[in-house]
Amino acid sequence: MAQESPKEWTLEEENELRLEIDFGIKVKLRLLNGTAEIFGTELAQNIDYEFSGRKIAVFTWHGCKLQIQGNCSVEYIANETPMMAYLNMHMALEQRRVLATQNNGQGPKVLIVGPNDVGKTSLSKMLLSYALRQDRQPIYVDLDCSEGSITMPGCLTATPLTEMIDVEEGFGSSATSAPTAGSAVMPLAYYYGLPSPKDNVKLYNMLMARLAQSVDKRLQEDQAARRSGIVIDTNGLIDATGYEIIANCIKAFSVDVIIVLGHERLYSDMRRLHQKTDVSVIKLTKSGGVVERDHAFRRQTQNQKIREYFYGTSKSELAPYSTMVNYHDIEILQVGEGSLAPSSALPIGEDRKVSETHVVKVEPGEHLLHSILAVSNADKMKEQEILETNIAGFVYISEIHDVRKKMTVLSPCPGRIPKRFWWLGSLKWAED
Ligand code: ADP
Repeated sequence: MAQESPKEWTLEEENELRLEIDFGIKVKLRLLNGTAEIFGTELAQNIDYEFSGRKIAVFTWHGCKLQIQGNCSVEYIANETPMMAYLNMHMALEQRRVLATQNNGQGPKVLIVGPNDVGKTSLSKMLLSYALRQDRQPIYVDLDCSEGSITMPGCLTATPLTEMIDVEEGFGSSATSAPTAGSAVMPLAYYYGLPSPKDNVKLYNMLMARLAQSVDKRLQEDQAARRSGIVIDTNGLIDATGYEIIANCIKAFSVDVIIVLGHERLYSDMRRLHQKTDVSVIKLTKSGGVVERDHAFRRQTQNQKIREYFYGTSKSELAPYSTMVNYHDIEILQVGEGSLAPSSALPIGEDRKVSETHVVKVEPGEHLLHSILAVSNADKMKEQEILETNIAGFVYISEIHDVRKKMTVLSPCPGRIPKRFWWLGSLKWAED
């Protein structure tokens, strides 16, 4: 089939070109002249950037000309954006960093809250990218276990950033144990294993507190990170459980700036709750470009993330290793018997509290086929300790040989997997 001729777009200053690209479709974007950025990362001129299954905004402060090759499902220019307010937010944070540098203190600890699909992750990227562009080295904390901006879904992560966030790959499809080529990230990850914090609030809060301790340690040891501060991206839970988690998060990370995106009541509640404290609460408007992602799109994004973990991206391909593992060489663990069932599925009056952080061993068998398991860094089976140990990476169970008591696993690392304890969560993947 003949390739369609490329389309050119001319953007005036402070305009953005909003694009939606379906999964399975590849679109190439090229900056022909002027300057432009995607969620804070600047584009280089005359280089093709390739996107698939993404919704993005190409923003220009001073005007530019862009070329698009391929079919976008949505493409339009918007001249009203909240970018100036976002830039002002960055400048206010930068002032705090300057102060922190002068008195060797702590840079801002920013928490971004709001419902789903208001642009929290996009704003996190922008604030982090702007900080990086000023030679800061902030830490990105991702508490959105449903998405997995950094690594697989199901994790709570902290990533010290030192290089610009990749335009095509976002924070990178970096594996915890095998970052993709060119990736700047090497995250610290704790495995929660469930899609919503609601599914096991006690465990979620425990891991969040553990992550906060690790971040605190890093901030004490790393002067550049301390001065730069942290940006915490959250999941969109804003009901009573969400408020409890936000309160725990503020305490655990000693948050001093809360940004509320696109939700008046949440903003007013946050202000009221923090009026007599040193915590600043700021309201920012949601961009008109933020797109609601339905269940199917989220699932496809998850699948893409998982695929990239093992196979990399078209820009930096990885070749995963297939290894045969004996059942008796590993221990498969799960938190809280029955905790994988959603709350609504529990019999009325059933109290899950006791088992919420109880570690149980899972017998290997056919039921593990197509599961993604997180490999713990723990060496010993001590309940509390193993729960709070970070993870080394992930494996995918591609075949079960139950009679021979063996299974075939896919992993980004060659050879025998040196770790014995593997966490089972709710994540499944059918390799295509
Ligand atoms: P949240 O973190 O609040 O759920 P996201 O930042 O992930 O929201 O944004 C939701 C979707 O909208 C993402 O696919 C993101 O890439 C897209 N998006 C965000 N801002 C814009 C914009 N200005 N134009 C086009 N798409 C956008």
